[in-house]
Amino acid sequence: MPRYDIAIAGCGPAGLATALLLHRDGHRVTLFERFNTPRPVGSGLMIQPTGFAVLRELGLAQKLLDHGARIARLHGQAGQRGRVVLDVRYTALGRRAGFGIGVHRATLFALLHDAVVAAGIPVQTGCAITGSEAASDGRRRLSLEDGRRTPCFDLVVDALGTRTPLAPPCGRALVYGALWGTLAWPEGTGFDPAALEQRYNRASVMVGVLPVGRFPGGTQAQAAFFWSIRADRLAAWRAVGLDGWKAQVETLWPMTRPLLSQIDTPDQLTFAGYAHRTLPTPAETGLIHIGDAWHSASPQLGQGANMALLDAYALAIALRHSEDIPTALAEAVRMRRSHVRLYQALTALFTPVYQSDSRLLPLIRDRLVGPLSRLWPATRIQAAMVSGLVGDPMTPLGL
Ligand SMILES: Cc1cc2nc3c(=O)[nH]c(=O)nc-3n(C[C@H](O)[C@H](O)[C@H](O)COP(=O)(O)OP(=O)(O)OC[C@H]3O[C@@H](n4cnc5c(N)ncnc54)[C@H](O)[C@@H]3O)c2cc1C
Repeated sequence: MPRYDIAIAGCGPAGLATALLLHRDGHRVTLFERFNTPRPVGSGLMIQPTGFAVLRELGLAQKLLDHGARIARLHGQAGQRGRVVLDVRYTALGRRAGFGIGVHRATLFALLHDAVVAAGIPVQTGCAITGSEAASDGRRRLSLEDGRRTPCFDLVVDALGTRTPLAPPCGRALVYGALWGTLAWPEGTGFDPAALEQRYNRASVMVGVLPVGRFPGGTQAQAAFFWSIRADRLAAWRAVGLDGWKAQVETLWPMTRPLLSQIDTPDQLTFAGYAHRTLPTPAETGLIHIGDAWHSASPQLGQGANMALLDAYALAIALRHSEDIPTALAEAVRMRRSHVRLYQALTALFTPVYQSDSRLLPLIRDRLVGPLSRLWPATRIQAAMVSGLVGDPMTPLGL
C-alpha cells in the first residue's frame, strides 16, 4: 500500500476520524483547524449504529458508552391532545438491533481529539483556510487567511463542514433552524433517560429533549434541549422575553418546567441554522470532500455525524486497496454515493413534516402517517431509517 502526505482540513468528527484512520495505515497526516484551541460548536447529537461501528474500529466504543446515554427509542407527541405521532424503537430490528447514543458534541470531540493527540498526529491550529490549489503534478496546497500557503500534499481531505471554502457553494439554507442548550438532566421528573422525546404543534412548533450523558471528567448527567425556530424570527423571540417564551413551552409540554427553570438568559441557547446541500462532484485532483463538506442536511434524521464517520472509513479503506490517489478517491465516492443520495432525499422529505409552515403535512402526519407508522412493517422500516441502515451502507465498507 502506498503511503502518502495528507492534509486534513477541519477538526470535526470527519477530520479527526480520518486523521486517526489514515495515521494508523502509515500515512503522514497533518490536521489544520481555524480555532487556536480545537473545540466543538453546538450541543447534543445522536450516534447511530453506523457511526458506532466506525468508532468501534477506532477503539473508542467503550469510552463513548461510558460517557454517552444509551437511547432505546424516539418518541414524539403532537397537539394539546398529545397524539403519539413518532414512536421508533431500535428493538423493532430484532434480536441484533443496535441502539442510539446521545452524546454532547464536546464529548465526542474530546474522545476523538484525545486519541489524535495520543497518536502524536500534528494539529496546526489558528489556520483559517480560504482555498486550495492543485500543482501541475496533481499535488495540492492550502491557502490561509493570513496569506500563508502550506507545502504541497499528495492529498487534501476537505472536512471543513457545510460552509467549506474548498468547494463551490451549492444547495440552500433552510428557513427553520433551532435554539439549542445544554442543561442538567432533570432526574426523577418523568423524562425517559433512554429516549429522545419531542412535542409538536403543527410543524411550526417543536421542542425536544435528548439525554447526552456526561462530559469527560464530569459526574452530572446532561440533557440537550432544543426549540425549533425560523431564522427570521430570532429577533422576535428575543423581544418576547424569556418568561413569555417559557410560558409557551410549558403550555405545550408542562414537564419541561425543571429544564426551563435552568435557563436564566437567552445566551444559554445557541441558534443553529441548517442547510440542505450535496456537492455533485465530491472528488477533484488531489482533493476529496467528506462529511458535511460533501453533504449536509437538517438534523431531522440525526445522520450527519454518522455519515461523516462512514465517509472517513470509506476513504481509509479505498486508500488501503487502491494503487494511486485518483483511483482511491473514485472508489471512496463510489462506496458512499448511493447511501448519501438516499439519506439526503429522505431528510429533504421528512424535514418539512416537522419543521415548516405547512398546515397540511402535519395534519397528514398526525391523523394518518403517525398511527400507521406504529404498525408492522412501518415500525421496522422506521427503526432501520433512524439507525442509518437503509441502503445497507455497512456491507461495502466491511463493517
Ligand atoms: C444542531 C445540530 C444538531 C445535530 N444533530 C445531529 C445528530 O443527532 N446526529 C448526527 O449524526 N448529526 C447531527 N448533526 C449534524 C452533525 O453535527 C454534522 O453532520 C457533523 O458535525 C459533520 O461533521 P464534519 O466533521 O463534517 O463537520 P463539522 O462538525 O462542521 O466540522 C468542521 C470543522 O472544520 C473547522 N473549520 C470550518 N471552516 C474552517 C476554515 N475555513 N478553516 C479552518 N477550519 C475550519 C470547524 O471549526 C470544525 O472544527 C447536527 C447538527 C446540528 C447543527
